[in-house]
Amino acid sequence: MGAETVEILGLPVQVVTYGETLDIIREWIGSGEPHQLATANPEFMIMAQEDAEFRQALKSADLVVADGAGLLWAARVMGQPLPERVTGSDLLPLIARQAAAEGWTIFLLGAAPGTARQTAEVLQAEHSELRVVNDYSGSPSDEESDGIIELVRQARPDILLVAYGAPAQEKWIARYLHELAVPVVIGVGGAFDHIAGVQRRAPVWVQNLHLEWLFRLVTQPWRWRRQLALPKFAWAVLRSRWQS
Ligand code: UDP
Repeated sequence: MGAETVEILGLPVQVVTYGETLDIIREWIGSGEPHQLATANPEFMIMAQEDAEFRQALKSADLVVADGAGLLWAARVMGQPLPERVTGSDLLPLIARQAAAEGWTIFLLGAAPGTARQTAEVLQAEHSELRVVNDYSGSPSDEESDGIIELVRQARPDILLVAYGAPAQEKWIARYLHELAVPVVIGVGGAFDHIAGVQRRAPVWVQNLHLEWLFRLVTQPWRWRRQLALPKFAWAVLRSRWQS
C-alpha cells in the first residue's frame, strides 16, 4: 500500500487524501483479498486505550484514516501533518460515484431498520448505475453473525459498509473479516444516518471551523460522556509529545 503512517497514542493513522483512499480501495478490489478500513477520531483513540480488542482491531486494520479534526491537530503536534480529514460520511458518496463508474458492488449493513435501504436509494438517485447487492440492519451481536456472514457471502459484494458505530463495528469487522471474504470492509459509523437524512450533520461552515464535535454535542446531548474523550485526548497527545 505504501502510505506514510503517523502514530497517535500508539495507534497508526495513514497520511492519505480522499483520492488516495479511493486508489487504495481500487487496489484492494483488484487483489480480491479481504481488507479493513477504519475512519478514526479522537474518541476511538481514547476508547482503544481501555479496550484491548478495539486497539487490536485498529492496529490490524489495513488502513486507518483521520475522520475527525482532532486527529489532524494531533498529527501536526507530532510533526507529521495529515493532508485532510477523510470522513465516513464524505467518503461514502465518493465511493458510490466510483463504484457506479467502475462496476463495483456494495452491501450496506447496519443502522436502524430501513435506514440502509434509504441510504441506497439516495445514492442510487445520484448514480443510477450503482449496484447495491443487498442491505440489512441486523446487529453486531455474536448470535447474529452466522446469518449475516451467510447473507454477505451470498451477495459477494466488492465493498461492505458497516454502520454499527465504534467500537462495535471495528471489532465485528476484525473478528469476521476473513469469513466475510469481501475485499473492502469499512466501518462508517453514523454515515447512513447522515445520507438518509435521519440525523442532521453539521453544516459545512461548522465543519470548516473544526467544531463538528460541538454540533454533535448540542444536537445529541447524550454523547457528552463519550465526548469527555476530547480533552483527555488533547492532554494525552501533548503529554506524549513532551515526553518524546
Ligand atoms: N447501530 C446499529 N446497531 C447497534 C448500534 C448502533 O445499527 O447495535 C447504528 C446506529 O443506528 C447508527 C450507527 O450504528 O446508525 C452509529 O452511529 P454513531 O453516530 O453513534 O456512530 P459514530 O460515528 O459515533 O461511531
